Amino acid sequence: MSPTLEVARALDAADPLRGFKARFALPPGVIYLDGNSLGPMPLAAREKLAAVADREWGEGLIRSWNDADWIGAPERVGGKIARLIGAAPGEVVVADSTSVNLFKLLVSALRARPERRVILTETGNFPTDLYVAGGAAGVMSDASVRAVDPADVEDAIDGDTAVVMLTHVHYKSAARRDMARLTAAAHAAGALTLWDLSHSAGAVKVCLNDCDADLAVGCGYKFLNGGPGAPAFLYVADRLQAALASPLTGWMGHAAPFDFVDAYRPAAGVRRFLCGTPPILGLATLEAGVDLALEVAPADLAAKSAKLWDFFNNLMEVRLAGHGFSLATPADPAVRGSHISYVHPMGYAIMQALIARGVIGDFREPDVMRFGLTPLYIGFEDVWGAIDVLAQTMSAQTWRESPPRQPGRVT
Ligand SMILES: *Cc1c(COP(=O)(O)O)cnc(C)c1O
Repeated sequence: MSPTLEVARALDAADPLRGFKARFALPPGVIYLDGNSLGPMPLAAREKLAAVADREWGEGLIRSWNDADWIGAPERVGGKIARLIGAAPGEVVVADSTSVNLFKLLVSALRARPERRVILTETGNFPTDLYVAGGAAGVMSDASVRAVDPADVEDAIDGDTAVVMLTHVHYKSAARRDMARLTAAAHAAGALTLWDLSHSAGAVKVCLNDCDADLAVGCGYKFLNGGPGAPAFLYVADRLQAALASPLTGWMGHAAPFDFVDAYRPAAGVRRFLCGTPPILGLATLEAGVDLALEVAPADLAAKSAKLWDFFNNLMEVRLAGHGFSLATPADPAVRGSHISYVHPMGYAIMQALIARGVIGDFREPDVMRFGLTPLYIGFEDVWGAIDVLAQTMSAQTWRESPPRQPGRVT
């Protein structure tokens, strides 16, 4: 079927998720293909933020820690995220940033495997994952990070591997790892696994429990639409919780923070991985985003994102052939995530030209253009419109007028 505007409209009309777009604050004239980097604002998040500010903070004051259950928010919202990633409610808690959660879990994993000293990961992993791994190994004097070619990870797991740290869906290529297989390989060698779900939660099917995964982290502000700087989440399999301890022994991870005793005693469950006071405003908007995603079965979210991907790529093949774009995402839906990437030598300038016309994707060095195909608010006509603008940009060469990249700016 040739991907025409009429076909796009017919696909939208038949889409069971089509009603969700109206529940986001998306500005007119914008086709937003960057929800894999910062999700747009759910209308419910704005209402929630106003209510939390006016009633809970403004009027309730400190009483809201109990009356509005602020104190329970990390576990309550974590329990909701658990349903999106195939985990049990007591296995997920919202806390800190993805980077800080990586640190806490890596150090606890290294301590749980004292006879093994290596964090195994892949080259080209998301930078913060590599940087934090280096930092975690650094505080454990004898540990080190071993980053191997992505294709060699499975073979590199050995008797010195304490933990295999991988990103489930790669931030640039959207290549998706086989979580069950790699977890089984790690376990066969006696190692733990730590999965970064930043590009997975709310986008593709994740089954932590079915895959027997040990540890995981992920972002709140991407596909979960939690808002800029919304806190992240972490997962510790129930069977491991008693044996693992956070190296950041803050009072919120204490068994009884309001006993105010001198000696640290970790809380019983996943709450022991909390550190300081939870960010209530960010938790409130994150909860609104997660509640929205929970209205849809995770399998339906994944099915829609796969269809958007196919439609996008079909259109690229039909309308942008000969313009120098090469697909940088695996074509097989079983091994890809929810964004689509193309390599183009002029990628930065082309993306700037698209953004100037309201088609917002992003660019990753050195030459990768990314388009987030988020199932809740992107429709097939949006994809058609984005490709139409791209086709015009290429044929009129308007990208030649894009200003050069400025150092220090967010891309
Ligand atoms: C976005 C992203 C992060 C972000 O980490 P923060 O600490 O929230 O800034 C980490 N890992 C991956 C794989 C990501 O895509």
